[in-house]
Amino acid sequence: MFDNLSDKLDKALHVLKGHGQITEINVAETLKEVRRALLDADVNFKIAKEFTNRVKEKALGQNVLSSLKPGQLMVKIVKDELTELMGGDAEELDLTGSPSVILMSGLQGSGKTTFSGKLANFLKNKKTRKPLLVACDVYRPAAIDQLHVVGEQIGVEVFSDRGNNDPVAIAKAGVQHAKSDGFNVVIIDTAGRLAVDEQMMTEIANIHKAITPQETLFVVDSMTGQDAVNTAKAFNDVLNFDGVILTKLDGDTRGGAAISIKSVVNKPIKFIGTGEKMEAIDVFYPARMADRILGMGDVVSLVERAQEQFDEEQARQIQKKIAKNRFGFDDFLSQIQQIKKMGNMKDLMGMIPGVGKAMKGLDIDDDAFKHIEAMIHSMTPDERANPSKLNASRKKRIAAGSGRSIQEVNQLLKQFQQMSKMMKMMQGGGGKKMMQMMQN
Ligand code: GDP
Repeated sequence: MFDNLSDKLDKALHVLKGHGQITEINVAETLKEVRRALLDADVNFKIAKEFTNRVKEKALGQNVLSSLKPGQLMVKIVKDELTELMGGDAEELDLTGSPSVILMSGLQGSGKTTFSGKLANFLKNKKTRKPLLVACDVYRPAAIDQLHVVGEQIGVEVFSDRGNNDPVAIAKAGVQHAKSDGFNVVIIDTAGRLAVDEQMMTEIANIHKAITPQETLFVVDSMTGQDAVNTAKAFNDVLNFDGVILTKLDGDTRGGAAISIKSVVNKPIKFIGTGEKMEAIDVFYPARMADRILGMGDVVSLVERAQEQFDEEQARQIQKKIAKNRFGFDDFLSQIQQIKKMGNMKDLMGMIPGVGKAMKGLDIDDDAFKHIEAMIHSMTPDERANPSKLNASRKKRIAAGSGRSIQEVNQLLKQFQQMSKMMKMMQGGGGKKMMQMMQN
């Protein structure tokens, strides 16, 4: 995420390294580079200029008071200003209203339907919420099918009316259906166009008027940079929406949309989409995003993602198996599956401070576990439960079956043994022992 921008900002902020104090001259030099980095990331010229002016003022003002080194002080100021620019505090959805109605808007291809599913799934996992998805794209039958596929995938009901070509009527009927069938959140997916056009705007404005949603969300593809900001402005003029959803932040996004959108439309970014899977949704926290942009990682989000995927019952079962020395490859596989659900590997690694930078340029396969899974799938159930049975001829068979080499099979076994050993140690009150081992 934002690799290029992070890299350039890092270089810009390095200018101050070795300088004993902040001066007009070295600040100007640093900020020239910061501004260039922002412009390259497709941040609007005016916003970039105002940003660096504010940073300059603060840097020169705080210089005397601070005990921080110039480089550190500048990083802190840039981080605070970036956070502020992206909205300051995180803003939650308004879920009052029974049911609470959420209207999705945005161009075709921005990720509206995918995000509607992600949001339904996110709310459903909160337990107190029972969402209903409503398909209001009457122009493309495929769009209705797509929402049904998504709904099935996450176990959320989808309301649609294929014979009806009046999106306002469908939206109203959807809300009615939610009321009578006990749904407490209604997410309405609407039709988009390839570009802003009047008919689309009138249609979405009519739906908006008819159902008075608690939340009108504008979905935008972050890859489109400045265009994203202009589209947001056009939609906001008509809908006065409540929040922005930035999708496709997992891609090769330059960052301009994330940084500029709030100050252009004065509406908060509420969520981000970081992949095609239903789990690839995150609440948008400006401060955490600023950390990531500055290459400082985002451990808090990483831990939260792990907690979301954590299954207590499964953890208990695994603990029992470890205690009885019965942890096998099937358990190993289910652990891998849990990690995969946390999201795209490169994205996850980027959340660990320093790792994102170290990995720059490395091509990390999104399905980094593919080979491991293939090898495990080539084992018999008996072998998976009893890895000690894996002798030379069995390993050869597994290698052939999964299309990997014997060395890779051996490596997998070694990793498995190390992991089992480590888990056993952690269980036997051996946390201390493990720390000692790691220090040696
Ligand atoms: P809609 O026309 O606005 O409903 O857009 P869709 O939901 O159909 O999404 C368009 C394409 O973008 C689909 O191929 C989605 O899988 C993909 N997509 C949506 N959100 C994300 C995201 O956060 N990351 C990535 N990489 N792809 C996404």
